[in-house]
Amino acid sequence: MHLKLLPEFCFSQKRLQRPAGIIIHYFSATHPDLRSIEDPYSLADCYKLFVDLNRPGDQKLCLPVDRYAKRGYGSAHFLIDRNGFEWQLVPKTQIAYHAGDSVLNGRKNCNSWTFGVELIGTIDSGFTEEQYDAVARRCATLSVEFAIKDWSFIAGHDHVTQHRQFPKTDPGPLFNWGKFFGKMRWYIAGA
Ligand SMILES: [Zn+2]
Repeated sequence: MHLKLLPEFCFSQKRLQRPAGIIIHYFSATHPDLRSIEDPYSLADCYKLFVDLNRPGDQKLCLPVDRYAKRGYGSAHFLIDRNGFEWQLVPKTQIAYHAGDSVLNGRKNCNSWTFGVELIGTIDSGFTEEQYDAVARRCATLSVEFAIKDWSFIAGHDHVTQHRQFPKTDPGPLFNWGKFFGKMRWYIAGA
């Protein structure tokens, strides 16, 4: 894991209160309208896009300014590339902007009490074996460190989102939850 924190304006200065869950997402810089992207599946360009999401319109480097005039909010604690390499983008003590309007097991506003883990990919890319290993290892470590014993609190963005206007599709039907939880169990047993 490589510590590569986003600038402070990309995450909340409020602290995570007793982290009790993990939300899994996918992310990439594949949209054809993006500028100054060399490899849409690279950690570096995904990082660049995360920073861009949080910038005011006139300072954006990648997103089309006409459609993203206002600053948005986007970040997550961990970002895992197709080879399973991982960057930590947000300190574990702070709230990241990954889940938006959301509810999980009746608890609202997941950002304030969950970690966000992003896998580089798209709705139809699927995920590599290296990514399953890396995300399972990350979630195993977090679940031990923060005593997340009920794994129904580890869920996809598509499961928790309450957005009707912008429905979320990540990590989507190609994410194999059975395989993921199996690997998580294996990492915890070996810890
Ligand atoms: Zn998401």
